[in-house]
Amino acid sequence: MTQVAEPISATHVPGANYALLVARAVRVLNSAGVMHMSGHLAVRDAGDPNRIWINSRKASRSTLTAADIVPVDLTTGKRIGAGDEPPSELPIHLAVFRRRPEVGAIVHTHPEHVIVLSIVDIPLMPVHLAAGFLPERAPVWDDPNIINSQERGEVLADHLGDSTVLVIRGHGVVVVGATFEEAVARTVLVAENARIQANASALGSPKTLKGDELARAAKQMCQPIVMKKHYHYHEQTAGQLGGLDGVGG
Ligand SMILES: [Zn+2]
Repeated sequence: MTQVAEPISATHVPGANYALLVARAVRVLNSAGVMHMSGHLAVRDAGDPNRIWINSRKASRSTLTAADIVPVDLTTGKRIGAGDEPPSELPIHLAVFRRRPEVGAIVHTHPEHVIVLSIVDIPLMPVHLAAGFLPERAPVWDDPNIINSQERGEVLADHLGDSTVLVIRGHGVVVVGATFEEAVARTVLVAENARIQANASALGSPKTLKGDELARAAKQMCQPIVMKKHYHYHEQTAGQLGGLDGVGG
């Protein structure tokens, strides 16, 4: 199973403006068509590993700014300071960050074709060379419900294990990365891979990447520098489309 143990990237560093960084990354995910109206991104502060930053429950993912990003204490699970509250599914992020110290960022969202595969019991599997970070069969939590309690967060983390991705049937996906660039790039690639896999499954029996093929794909296509290139592409595209207008910075 693919591990995430790459070093923190140059932009994911102590002292970074995490509120702005998360706001921009959420807008990038939204412009790439994978954020959905209620998705969220949480990033661990490299200067204080007990602090995470997440988009607020109420702010629109299409227009939020740095002021809509909420700092949360990982130990207590409470917001730091006064202001808007984090999303109701914060327990996803608390449970996974507490168990996985190598994880620097987590995306939870609801990509259509991930859900399509999950409701016909087809496991998400790597079919696209660029998605070589996926395990041969992504784990699935067969429980279509929201994750709004500590107890459910712990069960989710059990199902995720050391995977890069967890599918939740009829609901969506959790994607982790060492950095926010990696988590964002992987999320877009998970949605693409799922779309390709679903289309191929309608035509026949897809050939999936396994064993040595998968290891080669991970090595050639999924290194941190490649994930940064993906992120840069999506960030530049978002900017050209106006998706970053008014975000600040
Ligand atoms: Zn959800």
